[in-house]
Amino acid sequence: MASLGVLRESDDFELSLALQNNSALQRALQEGGKTDETRQSLIVLACRTIQSCLGPGVKLDPDPSLANTNWSQSCWLTPKCIVYPRSAKDVSRTIKILGLLHTPFSVRCGGLSPTPEHSSIADGVLIDLRELGGIEISADGRIASVGPGARWSDVFEALDPHGLTVVGPRLPNVGIGGFILGGGLSFFSGEYGLAADKVENFEIVLSDGLIVDANSAEHPDLFWALKGGGSNFGIVTRFDLSTVPIRDIWYSMSTYAITEVPEVLLAFEQWQLRSADPKSAIFLRMGLDSCTITLVYSSPAKRPPCFNVFYDIDVMEYLILPTNGTVVSLTTALAELFPHNPARHDHRAASRKNDLGLYSAVEAYWVWRKETLALRDSTRADATFMIQHVPKTLIEKGIEDGSNPLGLTAVPQQWWAIVVDWDSAKDDNLVRESLRDITKRWTDLAKEQGTHLDFEFMNNASGDQNPLRSYGETNLQRLRDISMKYDKAQVFQLLQKGGFLLSRA
Ligand SMILES: Cc1cc2nc3c(=O)[nH]c(=O)nc-3n(C[C@H](O)[C@H](O)[C@H](O)COP(=O)(O)OP(=O)(O)OC[C@H]3O[C@@H](n4cnc5c(N)ncnc54)[C@H](O)[C@@H]3O)c2cc1C
Repeated sequence: MASLGVLRESDDFELSLALQNNSALQRALQEGGKTDETRQSLIVLACRTIQSCLGPGVKLDPDPSLANTNWSQSCWLTPKCIVYPRSAKDVSRTIKILGLLHTPFSVRCGGLSPTPEHSSIADGVLIDLRELGGIEISADGRIASVGPGARWSDVFEALDPHGLTVVGPRLPNVGIGGFILGGGLSFFSGEYGLAADKVENFEIVLSDGLIVDANSAEHPDLFWALKGGGSNFGIVTRFDLSTVPIRDIWYSMSTYAITEVPEVLLAFEQWQLRSADPKSAIFLRMGLDSCTITLVYSSPAKRPPCFNVFYDIDVMEYLILPTNGTVVSLTTALAELFPHNPARHDHRAASRKNDLGLYSAVEAYWVWRKETLALRDSTRADATFMIQHVPKTLIEKGIEDGSNPLGLTAVPQQWWAIVVDWDSAKDDNLVRESLRDITKRWTDLAKEQGTHLDFEFMNNASGDQNPLRSYGETNLQRLRDISMKYDKAQVFQLLQKGGFLLSRA
């Protein structure tokens, strides 16, 4: 098929009219992109048309170095073009063109999703939000308005002089968009809830190009859906976040030998069961050769007593000595300690009620270690097992702040995650299969012990998991209804290539 040319849009020009007047294009659309040739022609036309509207913000046939910025190499796919919108209006024009031309697309923010096509695409258009940054703090300091292209480290730094922060990720090199739309678990979630619960307003571009605000007064149903409903409803172009009065904090980070794991897990369990102090948080990462614990207290302190159970365990090495520092100094140190290593990655989520005995977490750890050591022998894959404490206060905050769609059971719980890094594409299936096996064994163990919870945390879920279904049938149906209301043509279900989509839940 011959090239379909370029459609031009200007203030007195309606794109849909131009479509009506272009018979070659109409034919292509009627064929529905059935052949590879028409599909490719439509994608090229979409890229050129967006380029004619946005100018240099569109890279046709991009250099792989522009495409391959996703965290996981398994997501390094080269799109037909990359669109870098600079405003909500740019996003609006882009999405209208993609809808009219039935063009597949993906949206990339930080690019940390490890699932191919969630924020990468081979045959289609990649919308990369990195140019849509910007951080503004309201005069009263109550709200930080953040573009999806901003970096968390810049947000933390901007708020630091005000003695404030926001409920952000533990490592600052995570994207703003995916983190919040998936819920967002922070060091400060015990005290203030999930990141999504601290959003006052989302500015979002809908599939028909309309730019709307979603908050408790305007489009409250969409507001609810965005607090954990992922990429199903539109492209969020600004997050207005409630700030929280935290700057000066206490923290430490230490590693322990594998032989200390039972003691570390016992201490972790005692802290969970006993600690009524929502200011305390623990980032527990167990590796194949050692185990690392970050203790955080959200005020200045001297050896906070809530962590007493840890102080007598033999430390192998302090990666960060007990410090009275700031949110900025902690997150900077963590970013240095955990740089993004170029590799293939995946993660997988499971959750359970807090255990009533040490037995199951330790047993789960040994199951995990045995399996992942075998995997390392055959593939050189490295793995980390994280247990994330979710206190009841976190769940209650969500309800207090207007609720979210996660459908969390109001009991203290743990969100487990395995993260695996490996090198070779030939091992993709083996590694993913092994991850599935381990989580299944964990789940079976938890079911036997009566501690299993269905919830799968979207931000730790693997591509074949179904976090939206784990929110429960009622919430899932409500999310579907909201999607039908705000995306009548179902552009985000039919043309968006990946993501945890309602159409696949
Ligand atoms: C090293 C590391 C540390 C992490 N730490 C934490 C943590 O502390 N707490 C936590 O909760 N999670 C954490 N995560 C998980 C992380 O939050 C998720 O992977 C999240 O999806 C990443 O967001 P992103 O914008 O970087 O990803 P992307 O891959 O760019 O996007 C993920 C999904 O969100 C969609 N999306 C992104 N932005 C928008 C937008 N503006 N509008 C519409 N859709 C959008 C994308 O299309 C895609 O489907 C971590 C992950 C890693 C790898």
